[in-house]
Amino acid sequence: EQLWDPVAGFGVTFRTMFRKVVTEQYPKEKLPTAPRFHGRHQLNRWPDGLEKCIGCELCAWACPADAIYVEGAENIDDAGDGTSARFSAGERYGRVYQINYLRCILCGLCIEACPTRALTMTNEYELADDNRANLIYEKSDLLAPLLPGMEQPPHAMLLGEDDQAYYRGEFAAPAPTGASASQPAGGG
Ligand code: SF4
Ligand code: SF4
Repeated sequence: EQLWDPVAGFGVTFRTMFRKVVTEQYPKEKLPTAPRFHGRHQLNRWPDGLEKCIGCELCAWACPADAIYVEGAENIDDAGDGTSARFSAGERYGRVYQINYLRCILCGLCIEACPTRALTMTNEYELADDNRANLIYEKSDLLAPLLPGMEQPPHAMLLGEDDQAYYRGEFAAPAPTGASASQPAGGG
């Protein structure tokens, strides 16, 4: 019987040689993630470029890993000297917004808690780094890019009548001037 053991062993080897390879050639080849994959967060904008985040901190309170730090501040339409500083369509905006990816477990509870759908998650999963400081993402790292038709805040509300119109999506989104916009106009 011992004589046949190596033959049986090589039989397994030869059979396996002709099977479909299941090894993924990462990072040369990247497989698409599941549609609802929980990857890096994104802070979304309205179609005029204003930030959806109103600095309410509900995401930070919902986080079981204490990974989010938010500092809100008042939007100013007219400070009396002609200056204004409006970053969101609400009373307040997120002046400081940080997510610590050394702590985050990508559970998604924060995006469930967000009342304005300012915070969503992308399918980006390559979050490794060799420097701890780089894994604390600032607002500038998390903000969605400006799409055609958007203006960099601070600026006035350019859509609808008031902030409620923004929240209800009751406005005509500005027509994109360049490539097609991929961000939804209303609550997305
Ligand atoms: Fe916190 Fe989970 Fe959101 Fe990460 S995904 S910041 S752990 S609530
Ligand atoms: Fe509030 Fe959403 Fe901004 Fe968090 S991301 S502070 S929940 S508006």
